[in-house]
Amino acid sequence: MKRYISTLALSAALMTTPVLAQENAPTVADAEAFVAKAEKDLFGFSIEGGRVAWINSTYIIDDTDALAAKYGEVGTEKAVQYALEAAKYQAVPGLTAETRRKLDILRGGLVLPAPTREGAAAELATIATRLQSSYGKGKGMLKGQPISGSDIEAEMGASRNPEELKEMWVSWHDNVGQPMGKDYARMVEIANDGATELGFKDVGAMWRSGYDMPADEFATLTDKLWLEVKPLYDELHTFVRGKLNAKYGDAVQAKTGPIRADLLGNMWAQEWGNIYDIVAPAGSGDIGYDIGDLLKAKNLDEIGMVKIGEGFFSSLGFAPLPESFYARSQFLKPRDREVVCHASAWNIDNVDDLRIKMCIKVNSSDFVTIHHELGHNYYQRAYNQQSYLHLNGANDGFHEAIGDAVALSITPEYLVQIGLLDKDKVPSAEKDTGLLLRQAMDKVAFLPFGLLVDKWRWGVFNGSIAPANYNKAWTDLRRQYQGIVPPAERPANAFDPGAKYHIPGNTPYTRYFLARILQFQFYKAACDAAGWKGPLHRCSFYGKKDVGTKLNAMLEMGASKPWPDALEAFTGSREMSGKAMLDYFKPLMDWLKQQNKGQKKGW
Ligand SMILES: [Zn+2]
Repeated sequence: MKRYISTLALSAALMTTPVLAQENAPTVADAEAFVAKAEKDLFGFSIEGGRVAWINSTYIIDDTDALAAKYGEVGTEKAVQYALEAAKYQAVPGLTAETRRKLDILRGGLVLPAPTREGAAAELATIATRLQSSYGKGKGMLKGQPISGSDIEAEMGASRNPEELKEMWVSWHDNVGQPMGKDYARMVEIANDGATELGFKDVGAMWRSGYDMPADEFATLTDKLWLEVKPLYDELHTFVRGKLNAKYGDAVQAKTGPIRADLLGNMWAQEWGNIYDIVAPAGSGDIGYDIGDLLKAKNLDEIGMVKIGEGFFSSLGFAPLPESFYARSQFLKPRDREVVCHASAWNIDNVDDLRIKMCIKVNSSDFVTIHHELGHNYYQRAYNQQSYLHLNGANDGFHEAIGDAVALSITPEYLVQIGLLDKDKVPSAEKDTGLLLRQAMDKVAFLPFGLLVDKWRWGVFNGSIAPANYNKAWTDLRRQYQGIVPPAERPANAFDPGAKYHIPGNTPYTRYFLARILQFQFYKAACDAAGWKGPLHRCSFYGKKDVGTKLNAMLEMGASKPWPDALEAFTGSREMSGKAMLDYFKPLMDWLKQQNKGQKKGW
């Protein structure tokens, strides 16, 4: 069972790691036997663990929490043992490429490795759990009153009062981030020792080992991708800064320089769609329809929405979802119990027991999320013939990008094709700017943040960012990449990175950056295969069986081959590239350049 949500819990201790007393040097046959044994064990365990996790997520009570924690612990113990054992076989001469690949997957599969010395695993697990739960319990302040994490996120999107925004931003970073600094530094020390034992330079290098190239080369590749798309970000930044200046005045947001981080509609300034109303171009800002309203007008409920998503994949030639998908998925928030509403996609038996778990509302954003989750499900099913360790995306960015590429194909013309939108309601071409700007506020604005979260962590793990410098390095990276600054001077003991879930939660972040880039690359490949000739953003590849055949060629490989092989099978290219994204936003880029004439770009 593989789930696609941001999961990770290193809670188990490895007090008793078996040290393999090898009398003789291990052989190729030993390595192969080990891999076979590990795959068999993990395959079975993943199904059982998946059932437990499913019940826990859809029926949260003390008992299912306890069961899930127990399975989580056993799972972590297994991962640790297999990683250590795999490390012992990596130098065996004469291994096949496949065995080597599987050993690497086992060796690098942990997010936060504990060293084997006594007490280290327990200390690491305690710290990791403390960091996570202190984030979960974190509160900010609004108008002098405490406010929870989910409420403060919503308020950051809705409020247009700079004083309130500043109060929320500062209190959240002070209350949630600051107390974590010491723990975080200690955690880095311990986990680095663990990574070294597994044969990695440090934890960051271990995280970068999953990309089929030397760790440093991968870091360079992410920089290259960023530089490709940066000109588009710079134009968007300049335009949005001008609009914020016009709305709030010089005292709040200056005409030049960086943007105040709390004004962008999001606690981390990572997606700016919430302040689209401030930047919407006069006349073309409103596209004239709302998908949620269209769905309601046709009396479509959650099942109807999922069927439309399934219909898209069927139109590409993918087999229909199994009946069990509709019988076993959670589409709605149950009335009588607690559940995890955060959307996720599952394949419980690693074969065809596909499910999504959501609390669907009939609106535009859930319509898009359904396509995203189904992308995971179709990927999972396409590679179900692979052996256990290859039941995964070509790299972690691929899995997140498939459904999003399909969602980009939800164009007005597509909505006409499936009978949701009347032909005479299709917005005219001058509305394209509004449509593209709305997309860019989320997808383009995210890029530098998506990159810098792990840039910071890579530096922390390799020691180039020392604990005394944690916060300054974070603030500097935010300024350098995003062009944003905190709304107030930060105290000397601040630990602002801790105010973002994925830092205390120890979830690697580069996958999200890659997924943003890849989804446009996949979308363009699909449109090329469909023979589309018009502006890229108006393409829909609905109904194009040739696209489905090519897409499936990539999906069915799972993680069995290096990702450039998989990318090539679908797109014909072995390189990840930001060019397709630039192509998609070309009309917006031209428009922004016009709007920004005479403005000082950059910060
Ligand atoms: Zn996802």
